[in-house]
Amino acid sequence: MPHPNDPKLRSFIDVDPASDFPIQNLPYGVFSAKDGLAPRIGVAIGDHVLDLWQLAQDCRIDVVEPAVFAASSLNPFMALGPKVWSRTRARISELLRHDHPELRDNERLRQRALVPTADVKLYLPITVAGYTDFYSSKEHATNVGVMFRGKDNALQPNWLHMPIGYNGRASTVVVSGTKVRRPRGQLKPPSVEVPSFGPCKRLDFELEMGVVVGQPSAMGEMLNEQQAEEMIFGFVILNDWSARDIQQWEYVPLGPFQAKAFATSISPWVVTREALEPFRLQGPTQEPAPLPYLRQTQPNNYDLTLDVALRTAGMNEAARICRTNFKYMYWSSVQQLVHHASSGCAMNVGDLLGSGTISGPEKDQRGSLLEISWNGTEPLELAGGIKRSFLEDGDSLVMRGWCQGDGYRVGFGEVEGTILAAA
Ligand code: CA
Repeated sequence: MPHPNDPKLRSFIDVDPASDFPIQNLPYGVFSAKDGLAPRIGVAIGDHVLDLWQLAQDCRIDVVEPAVFAASSLNPFMALGPKVWSRTRARISELLRHDHPELRDNERLRQRALVPTADVKLYLPITVAGYTDFYSSKEHATNVGVMFRGKDNALQPNWLHMPIGYNGRASTVVVSGTKVRRPRGQLKPPSVEVPSFGPCKRLDFELEMGVVVGQPSAMGEMLNEQQAEEMIFGFVILNDWSARDIQQWEYVPLGPFQAKAFATSISPWVVTREALEPFRLQGPTQEPAPLPYLRQTQPNNYDLTLDVALRTAGMNEAARICRTNFKYMYWSSVQQLVHHASSGCAMNVGDLLGSGTISGPEKDQRGSLLEISWNGTEPLELAGGIKRSFLEDGDSLVMRGWCQGDGYRVGFGEVEGTILAAA
C-alpha cells in the first residue's frame, strides 16, 4: 500500500491544486451537519468533510473503540496513541484513493459519509487541557527587546539557553470565527501617575503555531527528543490576542496575565505531525549549543508559509500585512515540549503549546502589529488611506498557513477573529 504522504496519490474526490486539503493532508476536526446529529469527528478532503463516525458504524475503520469518532473533541481519539493515529490515517487515505473502489463505488455510504464543507459547522477540535505559550522566535524577541530595552539588552540572558514560556488560560481558547471582545484592564501609560481601569487601547494579534499534545507524560518524568516527538498529535494556527497596554503595566515581575487571558483563537483543523513530515527541515543554528537535555539529533522545524491579512470594517477585502515562515523558529516544538516536562511537570492529552509569535528577519515578516507599527511609531498604511497601529473595533484578522508540495499543498485553512467593542 502506498504511504499516505506519497505526492502521487489522488482521490476520487476532485481537489483543486490550491486547496489546503488534498489526500496527502487529511486533517482532523469536529463538525456537525444539517442532519441534526451531534458534533463528531471528521476529516477534511477538498471541499468535503469525511464523517468518521459514519465510516466506523459501517465497520470501515478498525479501532478498538469506534465511539471515539462520536465524541465532540479529538481527545478520546488522541488518547489511543501514535500507532492508532498512523493506522487510521493510512486507512482513510486508502478509502479516499481514486483507485480504491470501496467507498468510491458505494453510493449509499458516500451519501452518508461525505458532507459538503459549505453545509457544516466547525467546532473547537480539542478539549484544551492546559495552554502554555512560548516566546521562541529570536527575531520577535529581539524586535520586542529593542523597542523596550534598547539594542544592547534586546535578548534577556536566559533566552539563548531555554525556550521561555508562561502558563496561559485554557478556558478562553476558541475556534476560528468566534468574535473577540476588546478586553478591559488596568492601564497606566508611562505619561500618567496612577492607573485607571478601562478598555484596552492597544489591541494586537500574535501569529503563532499551536502544538496539540496527544499523549500524556507522568509527573516527575523527563522526556527525550523521540518521546516528545511521538506525543505530538498535530498542529493548528494560533492567534494569541494581546492587550499591549495592559501587558506593559502588569508584566513585571511575573510576566503576562490578563493581557493574554481574554482570548486565544485556533484554526478548526488539526494537521497531523505525520502529514507535515515531508516538509521537515533544519531550524536556525543554535549558538551557544543548548544543554544536553535540549539537544536534537534530527531536524525539527517545518517549511510552512504563514500569511496574515487584515480587513477593517471599511474594506471590501482583506489586505495581506505579513508573510513569514514557521522555519524561522529558534526553539523547535520538540524542544519546547522536552523543556516543559523537564522539571517533572506532567503533560496531558489535549495540552496546547503556542510557539510564540513567528517573525522572520525581514520587515514584512513581522508577526504582530506591535512590530509592524514599531510600537505605534510607524502606522501600517492600508488601501483607501486607512491607517492602523493597533486593532480597532470591527477589524477582522485572518491567518493562513500551508506547506507547498509539488502540485499540492498541505494547509491549515484559516483562523479568523473579528473585534467587538468592549462591553
Ligand atoms: Ca504569544
